[in-house]
Amino acid sequence: MTAETDLSDTIKWNLSAVRDGVAAAAKDVGRDPGDVSLIAVSKSHPADRARAALVAGHRVFGENRVQEAQEKWPPLKEAYPGSELHLIGPLQTNKTGDAVALFDVIQTLDREKLARILAGEIDKQDRRPELFVQVNTGEEEQKAGVLPLDADGFIGKCIYDYGLPVVGLMCIPPVNESPALHFALLADIAKRNGLTRLSMGMSADFETGVRLGATEVRVGTAIFGARAQRD
Ligand SMILES: *Cc1c(COP(=O)(O)O)cnc(C)c1O
Repeated sequence: MTAETDLSDTIKWNLSAVRDGVAAAAKDVGRDPGDVSLIAVSKSHPADRARAALVAGHRVFGENRVQEAQEKWPPLKEAYPGSELHLIGPLQTNKTGDAVALFDVIQTLDREKLARILAGEIDKQDRRPELFVQVNTGEEEQKAGVLPLDADGFIGKCIYDYGLPVVGLMCIPPVNESPALHFALLADIAKRNGLTRLSMGMSADFETGVRLGATEVRVGTAIFGARAQRD
């Protein structure tokens, strides 16, 4: 057996293990596992690894850099037209047009300038990626996202002033804190704003995310292995 088929087998096996984990966590709290979408985060990995997941039947992926995704995804999307690509990393305003053209979902809407430019691009390109507002639940200085106190106002502005297709909220809890409180806070903000989708949970805590209502979990390492470079 070659190293490549080994890797494909590993990715296939990992995908099914993570899916099992999602299903078990959903059942724990009486949720339908089918209501949770597993986003396979292929950032920093070569296109071959994403392709292995596609061959294994997986169709939903996440990338954190627009340029990297532009280099990797157009041929994969062409080969697998049903695939769905999520942007899960910060979006610079000068990349907004490229992001609207390539991504099906953008999870990192977090400031008014970006909302304005997104609205313009959506109009111009006649493409409407679904949007998540990122909330900085830990109020960390270095982290993207709107502060919890500003969330209601910002969500309202995006939907009513800019007409944006905001469907849910996303958060990345602080590394050294238990994620449950952050997920619960995110769920609370979504609920009071009438938003039904919650992107929360990564390799280390996706089960907790699912138990607290995640409709999307973003899992990289547990599917594709460790990343060579830092993100
Ligand atoms: C990298 C990344 C993930 C996946 O992280 P893992 O720990 O490898 O599962 C999820 N969400 C965001 C926003 C990321 O940048």
